[in-house]
Amino acid sequence: MKKYDYIVVGSGIGGLYTALLAREHGSVLVITKGSIDDTNTKNAQGGIAAAIGKGDSPGLHLQDTINAGAGLSDEEAVKILVDEASVRIADMVRYRVPFDTLDGEIALTMEAAHSVPRILHAGGDATGEHIELALSQQVRASRIQVLENFLATEIRLEKSRVTGIRALDCRTGTFEEFDCDFLILATGGAGQLFKYNTNSGIATGDGIALAFNAGAEIADMEFFQFHPTALRMPGVPPFLISEAVRGEGGVLRNNKGEHFMADYHEKADLAPRDVVARSIVNEMKKSATDRVYLDVTHLPAHTITTRFPHIYRFCLDHGLDITRDLIPVAPAAHYMIGGIRVNTWGETNVARLFAAGEVACTGVHGANRLASNSLLEAIVFSKRIVERTAGKAKEKAPAESRVKDIYTTLGQRPSLKAVPAPGLASLQQLHWDKAGITRDKDGLNQAAGILATWQQSLRPPTDQPSYEVSNLVLTGRLLTEAALIREESRGAHFRTDFPQTSPKWQCHIVWRK
Ligand SMILES: Cc1cc2nc3c(=O)[nH]c(=O)nc-3n(C[C@H](O)[C@H](O)[C@H](O)COP(=O)(O)OP(=O)(O)OC[C@H]3O[C@@H](n4cnc5c(N)ncnc54)[C@H](O)[C@@H]3O)c2cc1C
Repeated sequence: MKKYDYIVVGSGIGGLYTALLAREHGSVLVITKGSIDDTNTKNAQGGIAAAIGKGDSPGLHLQDTINAGAGLSDEEAVKILVDEASVRIADMVRYRVPFDTLDGEIALTMEAAHSVPRILHAGGDATGEHIELALSQQVRASRIQVLENFLATEIRLEKSRVTGIRALDCRTGTFEEFDCDFLILATGGAGQLFKYNTNSGIATGDGIALAFNAGAEIADMEFFQFHPTALRMPGVPPFLISEAVRGEGGVLRNNKGEHFMADYHEKADLAPRDVVARSIVNEMKKSATDRVYLDVTHLPAHTITTRFPHIYRFCLDHGLDITRDLIPVAPAAHYMIGGIRVNTWGETNVARLFAAGEVACTGVHGANRLASNSLLEAIVFSKRIVERTAGKAKEKAPAESRVKDIYTTLGQRPSLKAVPAPGLASLQQLHWDKAGITRDKDGLNQAAGILATWQQSLRPPTDQPSYEVSNLVLTGRLLTEAALIREESRGAHFRTDFPQTSPKWQCHIVWRK
């Protein structure tokens, strides 16, 4: 069996950037379950945040990130994020990510809850596509071995230390094992938990299940960010309409044409994501519709087509000319805030196991992610993983965060009799209805009972779809049970039966096996 210094699972920004840096210190294998660019990274539109503009500073970026985090951000991790942003952006430029420029300088745009324009973008609204392409080209030109269509199914351990990974070759149906010194999970999020989501089909919570089953701690799972504006047209997948569209002056209107956001928040259309998402839900309820409208018709057509070419083209392909027509939108599940708990060096509590990107919970997002901080988080903390494993990191940072932790384990629940058949569609409907943008005790209890019953009844997985459903069921249980425990509303977690934020709940809910 071949042994590598590093095995990286996942080929989005977290996986590829880690692999490129790790290659300077040893042999690297990247395992990815689809083709190399089958990722959420490729779909990122708005951009990547960094305090590089005039009038901006890491201190201001830190403040905005902490404000969005609603009392749960780890200040030490946020400080690292904002301080190391500009050098990591320089790396991206070195890797030939073609950030857009204006008058010879990197162009910066505004997004919700940022106090100044600080979002770098590429190809207008195709930032992720350019990042994925640039990094994958670098990886292909390197000595890094990449195995596409390999699904990681189990972390191999010896005396509680990681020794390698077991993976399913999805093309032949056979299993293979690989040894390594360091294993880095960069498997992305779990948007496929929800009926309406903006994520790629790969986002099935695999990393959460792999890490949890290997004994890693999983934190903050109740916080799942819903993007306020995904396209809502019959028969069209909920394609993201970037926050940057509102940043450039787009306004939300209800079905009577009223600009309603000013009634909900002083920052109107640029209020934090959770506020905009819930305001939209409220407007939809009031008018018994399933959508509101994003209006950019007052902006010069040239601005729309050059700044948002991707969105413009996608809508036009579906019969909507957004320079003249209103864009029908509704919220959709977007980003997994919680994840595998890591310290500021990307280390989990399991020896030799690291996590990077969306699957990791570094603590920077707290209870709510500031727009465009996730691509940045992926590169800042990936770099630190490689520093740590290469022995360049100084002191081991303490894993504890400043706010307290509540440790918990998944208990048994009685098996229910009349439950829908477990499958992707029923699972997505269940989470959307009972554990979505707003939640309450009854709905969460029902969902938790059904998920526990499904977990007991699922046959051992054998192929990619059955592994993914099994991983989603476990991830959904961790999310739903945590949402049930947290009897308050904070950041992305909103309980209609506990609508206030409570100081008692200024803590992290951490799962242990
Ligand atoms: C539509 C959209 C727009 C976004 N826009 C922005 C934005 O403008 N700015 C921003 O900062 N963030 C944005 N985000 C969020 C951001 O794109 C993601 O958080 C980030 O790209 C995640 O990168 P990653 O490397 O962690 O995971 P991903 O890019 O999702 O990659 C995960 C990888 O893991 C692989 N994988 C998963 N499970 C397994 C397994 N079991 N075995 C093998 N391989 C596996 C997948 O195949 C994939 O290669 C957006 C997200 C979406 C969906």
